[in-house]
Parts: sequence; C-alpha cells; structure tokens
Amino acid sequence: MKVAIIGAGIAGLAAAYDVLNAGHEVTLFEASDRPGGLAGGFQDERWQWPLEKFYHHLFKSDKAIIKLVDEIGFSDKLFFPRPTTSVIINGRIEPFDSPLRWFTFSGFNLLDTLRFGMVSAYLRFTTPWRKLEQVTADAWLRRWYGDKIYETVWRPLLIGKFGPHYQEVNMAWMWARVHVRSPRLGYFEGGFQAFVDRLTAVVQQKGGCLRLKAPVQNIQPAAGQVKLQVLGEAYTFDACLATTSPGLLSQLAPTLPAAYLGQLLNLQSMGAVVLTLALTRPFMPDDLTYWLNIPAHTPHKTQSEYPFLALVEHTNYINRQHYGGDHILYCGDYVTPDHPYMTMSKEELQAAFTAALPKINPAFRPEWIRQSWLFREKYAQPVPLLNHSQAIPDIRTPLPGLYFASMSQVYPWDRGTNYAVEIGRRAAAALLQKV
Ligand SMILES: Cc1cc2nc3c(=O)[nH]c(=O)nc-3n(C[C@H](O)[C@H](O)[C@H](O)COP(=O)(O)OP(=O)(O)OC[C@H]3O[C@@H](n4cnc5c(N)ncnc54)[C@H](O)[C@@H]3O)c2cc1C
Repeated sequence: MKVAIIGAGIAGLAAAYDVLNAGHEVTLFEASDRPGGLAGGFQDERWQWPLEKFYHHLFKSDKAIIKLVDEIGFSDKLFFPRPTTSVIINGRIEPFDSPLRWFTFSGFNLLDTLRFGMVSAYLRFTTPWRKLEQVTADAWLRRWYGDKIYETVWRPLLIGKFGPHYQEVNMAWMWARVHVRSPRLGYFEGGFQAFVDRLTAVVQQKGGCLRLKAPVQNIQPAAGQVKLQVLGEAYTFDACLATTSPGLLSQLAPTLPAAYLGQLLNLQSMGAVVLTLALTRPFMPDDLTYWLNIPAHTPHKTQSEYPFLALVEHTNYINRQHYGGDHILYCGDYVTPDHPYMTMSKEELQAAFTAALPKINPAFRPEWIRQSWLFREKYAQPVPLLNHSQAIPDIRTPLPGLYFASMSQVYPWDRGTNYAVEIGRRAAAALLQKV
C-alpha cells in the first residue's frame, strides 16, 4: 500500500513507524519546518539542548511511549527526576505533591487532609470512569471533597484549564488525571525534540518519506483511494491518516458525510499560550518549585489576579548547564481559541505576564529577562463534555481509506505524548486491516 500521513507530530510518526514495519510505503506531509508538532522544541544559540515550545514531561505510567522509546533504542536517554509541584495559598508557595505534604499544607486542617486523601485514593485505585462521565467534575468534586477542598484545590484548577467550560467538563477526565500520575517526571537528554528526531530518523531509515513545509490543502475520495492536494500538486494514496485537529479535518475533507462532520465540529477545545523567559536569575522564591499552580477564581482570564495558570521553572527540573546557564521560566495558560491572548502582540502579552511576576517573587525585575519567546496553539486541550465517549469520532472515517487520530479521541485519558503514541499505533493497526 501507498500510505499518506498528514502531520509529523508524535501520533503521525508513531503510526508511520508501524505502517513501515508492516512493509508498506509511507509519505508524511508536515505543514511546519520541523517534525514534533506540539511536543517539538526550539533552540537558542547559547543552548546545548532544544527546549519544548510547550512545557513537557512524562509520567512513569506512560507505558505506550516508554515502550516505543525502548523499541527505537532510546531508553538510555530517558530519565526520571523528582521535581517539586507547588500551589499558591494565601499568597505563599507551598509544595503539594505527596501525601506527606498534604499534612503540612496550610489550606487544610487534619479532617480536610484525611478527606482529601480518602477521596483521592478512591480515584487513584478504582476504575469507575464510565459512570463518572455522566456527571460533571464540578458537581462530583464538590460533593465528595466538600466545598472547602473544592474551592481551595479543584475549582481553581478546573477554571485554569477550561475557562468558561469549567462546569461542563465530565468527571471521567478528572479521574484519568488523578489515576495515572507519578511523582517522578520523565524527560529526554536533548529534550522531547531529541526523541522526535530519533523517531523521525528511524522512520526515514525504514524508507519513510518526510515532506516538511508541505501543508495538505484538500482530501478527496478517488475510486477507493484518497487524493490529496499539497502545494497545488495532486497525489493519490491507497490510504491516508490525518492527525490534525478535528476542525481542520472538517475543512480539508468537506465531502465527509454530514454525521461525521457534525461530530468533528461538535468537539470543543481550548488553546494554549506559553511565554518562555530566559532569566539571568532563578525565579521561584523557594529555589525549589518546578511547577507552580496559580489559583484562577474567574473564568474570564483577563480579570484574574494572575494572568496565567501555571509558572514552570524548567531549570528547577533539568540542569541549567544545558541551557547556557539560563534560568528558564514558562508562563502558561489555556484560553478559548477566540480569546484576546490569541491575537495580542508578544509585547502586550509579555507586559501583562511579567507585571504579575513580582506578586510571586517581589525581587523580580524585568532586567532579569535575557530573552523571551511566545508560542500559541488554538487546538491544545480537548474539552470532554458529559458522555464524551459517545461523541468521539471513529478512527475509521466514512470515506474509504481515510483515517483520523487526534487528541480528542484518546479519552478518558488527558491528551499527552503517551496517548499520541497509543492512538497513532491504534490508527496504524486499523489502517493495516485494509490490506
Ligand atoms: C501547553 C501544553 C503542554 C503539554 N504538556 C505535555 C506534557 O507535559 N506531557 C505530554 O506527554 N504531553 C503534553 N502535551 C500534549 C502533547 O504535546 C500532545 O498530546 C501531543 O504532542 C499530540 O501529538 P499529535 O501528533 O496528536 O498532534 P500534534 O502534535 O498537534 O501534531 C499534528 C501535526 O500536524 C501538522 N499539521 C497540521 N495541519 C497540517 C496540514 N494541513 N498538513 C500537514 N501537516 C499538518 C502540525 O504541524 C503538527 O506537526 C502538552 C500540550 C500542550 C499544548
């Protein structure tokens, strides 16, 4: 078979690997100038390693990607430090990433800690997700954790991640988040881009053809085959896997039947905005925290006390010697795709974000910023509504030979590189049944 794959992100590359291993021809069309998609990196001239445009780490439970890393002989480059995750409570930074730390957390009394531990243990060690998708996370968390814990821990997190959708997200999504975490967080020597580059090299060694700066513009059925328009040229394939956003697939393949198009268009998602600062000094006042959750109390992000959801000091996780001695701080947020953050200039966003930094570290001065970068993506976080399992489009589209794999379909799991590998390989298996 001649197979086209649209998108050389992790899902597309993982699918290409399996299709090539089964003895078929693969052409990967990638719109940007580098493979990796959302997990891709960029590199300052001073740095030894590239850095993710959007902060990334793995969990120990990420079996699918760890297995693929092993298959391509890259396991010796994957390591698992144990950085600190904290929250802001009453204006102070407090670690909140282990049962021991729940006991010392000033937002809880002893009863709160016990209740938090018991309900979290239920989510961690049981698998009731099909029942949980029938209720909103807002209702379930408030009922079982109680108002105080809900308002202190969960509501700010839900608002931060889902903005105006925070009361619509189903509880199975939250269950999945709690169910598969690990305190140790995995990273690659050379960053996630090094893993992407290795996987790309293996795909190419196996005969895969990677076409960069080659955005697919149209997908049409053609007598049991699939015809693609790329930069004005037409190409015909026996099968095609699209790994774009659902919205983009609906535009690329308008001849998909109405029911499937409707499913694609009904899926909701949030965009991501990440401002990365290379600082000359460390930022976190405790010299420790890697990940700082910032409480959001209103879904209208521009009216929040803090204009972002998370501050991530990457160099409190990975040694700064790999980044020319820079201290790297990500300021990240999730917003609706039509939010002003998506169109504000970099200068405006940087001014708004850095104005809030002294609230967390009063010593911070803008002169600490050596360099900055802004990355934005409209399709960054699917929003799973009630009974989402029934709203997921099938990997096999109704157009013969056309397959679809995206972050919206990895449910109940939250999107992530592990699930991109898993769905990419699942899509490859579906496609190979065509033979
Ligand atoms: C802020 C943020 C933080 C994250 N943190 C983590 C984390 O800590 N750990 C983790 O595991 N995951 C994390 N993720 C999620 C992870 O990055 C994604 O789940 C994963 O990379 C998705 O891979 P994908 O291949 O499905 O999609 P994508 O990476 O989106 O790949 C799709 C590819 O298709 C290409 N494309 C689009 N349109 C066309 C076209 N018309 N023609 C050709 N090519 C096209 C795109 O350029 C892209 O390369 C994070 C994501 C974000 C946004």
